[in-house]
Amino acid sequence: MTQLTISRSVLHTSTVEFKRHFREYLKTLAKDIDTNRVELIEALEWCFDRWEYWRQKFYPDAELMFPFFQSGRRGSEFGHYSTCGSSGQPSVIHIKRSFLMGTSDITVAKLSPTKKLVLLKDHPDRLKFVDQTILHELVHQYLHEASPSAAEYESSESGKNYKGHGPLFAAECNRINETLHPELGFEFVPVRHMKRSHAKVNDVQRPSCAHFTHGELFHAWDITNPDLVGWQIEENRQRLEQALAFYGGAVELVEEAAEVATDFPAPFDSSCAEVCHQQLLGYDQAKDTDLVTAFHLAVLQQMQAAGTLDELLDAIGHSTAPADIQPAAGENGQTVIAIPESGPTVPTSVDSRLPALTQEYPISDPVASLKRIEADITAAGGKAALCKNQFGLKDGSSLSRHLKALKAAIAQLVAA
Ligand SMILES: [Zn+2]
Repeated sequence: MTQLTISRSVLHTSTVEFKRHFREYLKTLAKDIDTNRVELIEALEWCFDRWEYWRQKFYPDAELMFPFFQSGRRGSEFGHYSTCGSSGQPSVIHIKRSFLMGTSDITVAKLSPTKKLVLLKDHPDRLKFVDQTILHELVHQYLHEASPSAAEYESSESGKNYKGHGPLFAAECNRINETLHPELGFEFVPVRHMKRSHAKVNDVQRPSCAHFTHGELFHAWDITNPDLVGWQIEENRQRLEQALAFYGGAVELVEEAAEVATDFPAPFDSSCAEVCHQQLLGYDQAKDTDLVTAFHLAVLQQMQAAGTLDELLDAIGHSTAPADIQPAAGENGQTVIAIPESGPTVPTSVDSRLPALTQEYPISDPVASLKRIEADITAAGGKAALCKNQFGLKDGSSLSRHLKALKAAIAQLVAA
């Protein structure tokens, strides 16, 4: 394959010259127009200065063109680098208008369904956050324009679904952060390839380079990874606290309870139970209560009092009678009889009405569920066997996923 040669010096303008001309041009634009536009132009000039600061700091010898900065209202990205702008101009950095101008409070990251980071519109330090985005775009620009691996970057990383956040981008972020993090008073945290499956083994649990420079400033470990253990969750808590202090209140951690229904407009038909169940579950998740379990207990106690509990267990394929437990083949072919009291708690007969995995081993009580699931796997002779025989599933993948979720829930309990 022939290597692509990249020559982007189409304007033959030096960085400094271009900057001077562009500034003069903007100044003429600013003269006879409204205040908003004057402010916007001042903000764009600030962007040039910050770009120049980062360029001198991290790419003093690179042949970089002075980029066009633009700030439109559209798009969801806070910053974006393009080798070619919409009017054909080379090397364009776009900074979203509301983000640059602080016209509204902006959610800059969602940490969980109820927690988010918000950049406050009127805070005097808010541009510190925007400044970091300019550095992110500069790295894209460098990799396209001036890096010795530019051709490789363009051919291998840009067109992919990780939008230029591959191994070359991650390596640059790490090179910069090894200097930047200590300078800002932070411990160095590496970033990984945007696709976790492509990441280096050592960095696989680290934040994605797609969120450079903010992601790794706020988190030591990837918050989207459900397998983080107690000490990693603790490191993340400390890192978040440090980053919030670094931004001096410009970024705020906002916690809001999920929309919670506090009354039950009960539909008087057969869907009543489903509606109540969903509402209780939503309330539990938002308020950290345990209403669903209490609800289940109340129903079971009532059924027991009425003598209808056994009937129900039969109906869902769960029998308390030992005769119903079928022998399962053991590892060496010998017959193993499962004992109901200490052994499997799932029904052993295959029945389409069998409860789903997640209901059988509820995540609301992860410790007990994990204990039971492990006992059941052993009794069934493996994950796949348990899934096939007890739940009618084709393989053990659902079970593996649920096991992961249970372990993550336990880790969170430990950390709490
Ligand atoms: Zn990017």
